[in-house]
Amino acid sequence: MTNSESAPVEFDVSKPSISRVYDALLGGKDYYPSDEHVLEHLRETMPEVDELAKLNRAVLGRGVRYLAGEGGLKQYLDLGAGLPTMENTHQVAQALQPEAKVVYVDKDPIVLAHGRALLGENGQTRVITADLRDPAAVLAHPDVQSMIDFSQPVAIMLVGMLHHLHDDEDPEGVVDGYLDAVPVGSHLFITHFLDTGDESRALEKSFLDFLGTGRFRTREEILRLFRGCELVEPGLVPLSYWRPDGIVRDKLTLVEEIIVGGIAIKS
Ligand code: SAM
Repeated sequence: MTNSESAPVEFDVSKPSISRVYDALLGGKDYYPSDEHVLEHLRETMPEVDELAKLNRAVLGRGVRYLAGEGGLKQYLDLGAGLPTMENTHQVAQALQPEAKVVYVDKDPIVLAHGRALLGENGQTRVITADLRDPAAVLAHPDVQSMIDFSQPVAIMLVGMLHHLHDDEDPEGVVDGYLDAVPVGSHLFITHFLDTGDESRALEKSFLDFLGTGRFRTREEILRLFRGCELVEPGLVPLSYWRPDGIVRDKLTLVEEIIVGGIAIKS
């Protein structure tokens, strides 16, 4: 389904949704009792958990500024895009590359419902409801085919997303499915929960028990997701250290330590 279709979008509010929980952590108000239950448990486990979402959303803006600026990218596949909030990919990218095209992909139909408003504003943006674990189906989607020129570099964005795939869902294979379809010079942008041992384990348990996903991977596991690509400076680092806008303290807080990210170029 594309956002150009006008049928009402239905979604189940009896079960928690990753996109609504994340949006609530960012300060959004579109959540339901099932999401509130998850939020309560996450905040009980780590009172600073809202900050985790905010760090992630802030680096998304900095990352897209890099991709559109230094990277010169004009095509974006934002996979697991989430609900529109501040500094959405198309707004940041098109501020620097006015002709940039963005396709938002999310399995949660609420993203499409909210994304429709975005399309009204911008003819170079599409929102599709699809499961990103099936790269072939996503890549064959008519909106992806009409918007993305696969002979030119593409930004593959999996921001705050791959930790929501379990190991048996083959996150490495999923990344490869997209990278194989794009030319050399394309960029891969990933942020991911980091396994820091005991500190991250309690929060991981809370995510898994109440939301059903949220796998904290080791640095080595996350680096493997970038294989075949070359990380740009400063590499895979805690998000606060990824091209910060201001001065960053030497000592990171616990919440700053448990999420890392990087951008790499397909070589
Ligand atoms: N990328 C945005 C950001 O970083 O601000 C949103 C991240 S949000 C934490 C993760 C999103 O991934 C949610 O909106 C969720 O619905 C989506 N998602 C999870 N599993 C997915 C799947 N298999 N296919 C497509 N989207 C998925």
